Amino acid sequence: MAESVGILGAGITGLATAYVLSSKYKVTIVARDLPGDLGLDWASPWAGAVFHPQKTPIKLWQDMQSACFRFYWALAHNDPSSGVKVYPMTEYFDTIHDESEIWYKTLMPDYRVIPAGDLPPRTTFGIKYTALAMNPSMLLPWLKAKLIAKGVNFIRTEIKSVDEVRAITKAKLIVNASGVGARVFAGDESVSPVRGQTMFVKTDFNELVMKEGTEYTYVIPRTNSGGVIMGGIKSDRLDSEVDVKLKSDILMRVNRITNDAFKDLDTSTVTDIVGFRPGRKGGLRVEREGDVVHAYGVEGAGYIYSFGVAERVQELIEGSGLKAKLNDPTTLHAEPPFCCDEIYPFKDPKTDHEWGLWYFTDLIKVPSSFPKYARKYPTSLLIDCWLHDTDSIIELQNYEGAEKVESRYFFPQPDISSMSRMFVEMEPEMVNWNVWKKDWETLKLRCDVHPGDRHWWVVRLLERVDPDVERKEVLAVKRTKKSKPVFDEE
Ligand SMILES: Cc1cc2nc3c(=O)[nH]c(=O)nc-3n(C[C@H](O)[C@H](O)[C@H](O)COP(=O)(O)OP(=O)(O)OC[C@H]3O[C@@H](n4cnc5c(N)ncnc54)[C@H](O)[C@@H]3O)c2cc1C
Repeated sequence: MAESVGILGAGITGLATAYVLSSKYKVTIVARDLPGDLGLDWASPWAGAVFHPQKTPIKLWQDMQSACFRFYWALAHNDPSSGVKVYPMTEYFDTIHDESEIWYKTLMPDYRVIPAGDLPPRTTFGIKYTALAMNPSMLLPWLKAKLIAKGVNFIRTEIKSVDEVRAITKAKLIVNASGVGARVFAGDESVSPVRGQTMFVKTDFNELVMKEGTEYTYVIPRTNSGGVIMGGIKSDRLDSEVDVKLKSDILMRVNRITNDAFKDLDTSTVTDIVGFRPGRKGGLRVEREGDVVHAYGVEGAGYIYSFGVAERVQELIEGSGLKAKLNDPTTLHAEPPFCCDEIYPFKDPKTDHEWGLWYFTDLIKVPSSFPKYARKYPTSLLIDCWLHDTDSIIELQNYEGAEKVESRYFFPQPDISSMSRMFVEMEPEMVNWNVWKKDWETLKLRCDVHPGDRHWWVVRLLERVDPDVERKEVLAVKRTKKSKPVFDEE
C-alpha cells in the first residue's frame, strides 16, 4: 500500500503538491479554506494570476519556476477547461537597463527586447514574450476535481498544530502549505500578510502588460470572464476596505503602459478585489524539517512557483533532494539517492530508436564519457523535426557536491543504424518545448561518481509513452540491484 502524506493547505501550493505526490502516495489534504471558498484568510482565489518569471539569482528558484512553466504550458495546450491560457506579454522595468538579470530569456517563448525608442514614459527597459495567465476560479476547482479522481481525500477543518494534521490524516509525513498560517505552524515570524488591491474590468483587451521596479502595475486578462484584472499595490495594511484613491492611481499607471487603452474607464463601474498574499521576509521556504516539509512564503508568486515547489517537495520527501542529503555530513558518504540500476543491452535492436537505446545502454556504463559520443548542432528546425520523430531523450545531470551545475540533453541521431554511435546534443530550451508533455515519462537510470572530487553524473532517460506500442525498450533497464559508489574521504 502507498505511503500516506498529509498536506496542510488547499491553496495553489497545497493543490499542486497533492497533484504531484498523488501519483505515488496516498494524499489527504486538510484545510480551512477549499477551492470555491471566497474568504480573505487565504490568498489563492484573489490572485491575478499571471505566470511571469520572477527575477532571482537563486538557481533553485529559477529551476522551480521553469518546471512550473512547463507544467502550465502543457496544461494550457492540453486542457483549456483548466482556465490556463497563453497570452502575449509586454514587460517593462524602470530600474534595469539591459537583460543581464533576465534569466528567463531562453525559457519564455518568443522572447525579444523592445527597442529603446518604443518604450513608454518612465521605463528604462522592456521585453516581450509569450506567457500564461490562469483564472483561479477555474483552475482551483479543476485541480480539486482532478485530485479527487486521483484518490486524494479533502478534509475541511481549522487546525491548531501539525500534530493535529498527523492525527487526522494518519500520515507521518506532513507538507506544510498553509500560506500565512505558516507563521504559527512553522513558528516563523518572518511570515506576514501582504495586502493587494485590484480591479476586475469588463473589456476585450486580450494581452498581458506589466511594469516592475519602483512601481508595480499590471493588466492580466482573466480567461473566460470577458475582462481583465488591473493592479497593483503591495502594502502592509491589514484591513480589507477598498482604498478608493488607489483605484484612480492604478488606472493612471495602467494607461501609461497600455498607450491609454482604458482612458475612458469609470472606476466606479469596476469590481474591486482585496486579497492578502502570504509574504515572508527572505522569500519562499521549501525545506524539510524532520517529518515536515515546509512549502510557504510564496507571496505574490504562488502560481508561478506552485508546480516547481511541488516537485521540490517530492525530492525532499524522497531524499533525492541532493542538497538535503549531501549537505548533511552524516549522509555524505552514504549510498546516493538514485543509483544505480543494471543496464541490459538489447539483444536484437531493429528500429532507429532501438539502436539508439542499444548504444545508449552500453555507453551509460560510464556516464561521464557520454558527451564524447555527442555532436552539437546549432539549434535549428532540422533538430526540431528530428526530435518530433524520436522516442527517447537522454538527460545528463552534472552535480558538484550538492549543486547541480548543468543538465545536458541528447537524443539518438536518426541515422544511428549506420553504426556511427552518435547522439545529437540539443539546447535545454528545445527540451522545454518538447518534453513536459503528458506523453513522456522519465526513468532515473544511473549515476556515476568521480572519485575524490565530489562530482556526480546522473542520467535520466525520458521516453515517449505510446499506449499502442509495447515498450519493450524499458525492459532494457532492470531496476533491481543497487551498487554503492562512495565519495572518497575528504
Ligand atoms: C491581489 C493579488 C494578486 C496576486 N497576483 C498573483 C499573480 O499574478 N501570480 C501569482 O503567481 N500569484 C499572485 N498572487 C499570489 C498568490 O495568490 C499566492 O502566492 C498564492 O495563492 C499562495 O498560495 P498558497 O497555497 O501558498 O497559500 P493560500 O492560498 O493562502 O492557502 C493557504 C491554505 O492553508 C490553509 N490554512 C491556513 N491556516 C489554516 C489552519 N489554521 N487550519 C486549516 N487550514 C489552514 C488555508 O485554508 C488554505 O487552504 C496574488 C495575490 C493577491 C492577493
